[in-house]
Amino acid sequence: MIVVMQQGCTQQQVDHVVRLVREMSLADHVIVGTERTVVAVIGDDRFKDRSMLESCAGVDRVVPILAPYKIASRQAKAESTAIGLGGSLGCVAGGKKIAVIAGPCSVEDRGMLLDVAHAVKEAGATALRGGAFKPRTSPYQFQGLGERGLEILAEAREQTGLALVTEIMSIDQVDVVCRYADVLQIGTRNMHNFNLLCAVGKTDKPILLKRGWSATLDEFLLAAEYIINAGNGKVILCERGIRTHEQYVRNTLALAIVPAVKRESHLPIVVDPSQGTGRAYMVPAMCKAAVAAGADGLLIEVHRDPEHAMTDGGQSITCETFAQLMQEIKAVAAAVGREI
Ligand code: PEP
Ligand code: MN
Repeated sequence: MIVVMQQGCTQQQVDHVVRLVREMSLADHVIVGTERTVVAVIGDDRFKDRSMLESCAGVDRVVPILAPYKIASRQAKAESTAIGLGGSLGCVAGGKKIAVIAGPCSVEDRGMLLDVAHAVKEAGATALRGGAFKPRTSPYQFQGLGERGLEILAEAREQTGLALVTEIMSIDQVDVVCRYADVLQIGTRNMHNFNLLCAVGKTDKPILLKRGWSATLDEFLLAAEYIINAGNGKVILCERGIRTHEQYVRNTLALAIVPAVKRESHLPIVVDPSQGTGRAYMVPAMCKAAVAAGADGLLIEVHRDPEHAMTDGGQSITCETFAQLMQEIKAVAAAVGREI
């Protein structure tokens, strides 16, 4: 970091800053300019509390230089990370081929789930999504089928070879979800649940980590850092839209995070245009935009009969629309050197 002193600060104030820097076991290099004096802090200061320096008399501001995350950063690992999702269709996030994860918002019943699983596989998806434990805004809404839902998902994997991605909401679900799932999804509401992040960090399953709907990029990557730091490097980031003032969408899909993540981190990133817009008609266009922007995968809600879905019907596309989208998106993928 660099401590920029105020114009007209005293030598005592500079000396005080230097003393604090040394107390933090860091080195200093004072540069006296014609307008300003700055104290360049030398050493790994990522985990030091800079607020003390910010509140010192004579200090104008403190400018961090290193990103606050370490092992998730591209500074730590220059080459991009590719993560296999499981299943028997070779689904990978971070390779040349885009990982397409499709399926209903929730597992509602066996017949519907199996139908959708076969349809998305037929159309070219390599992983199946479906919530068995559902985080719902209201306690009166459908909460998911729990373990029965996981059994149905496992049956669909057996029949199709699709990798199985499903949400885990709490630490006490780790064992049961790990018994069935290939990939553990951490939902937007749990991105800040640091105990849960540490718990899934102790498993050997890939983790699909959704961005909190009000989280900054740094907070998102620090959440990934929790998982990696606990021992699990298989983190797949997922942009699912953020809360803004807009009314024409449920969430604003912040696609610019894709190139930002690519610059800051070696981890793969997938995009969820279903939660990301909340509108089924927008999903195909945003899938194409995500692939064009460099996303490593897509998480898409597909339902046999969206009008009668128990959750998120308004943002779910039909199996037919999905099949058409998979055809259309091939050209976009090819244009940016990827495959579907
Ligand atoms: C979902 O994928 O259905 C879901 C609940 O996602 P999010 O956590 O992004 O809202
Ligand atoms: Mn959903």
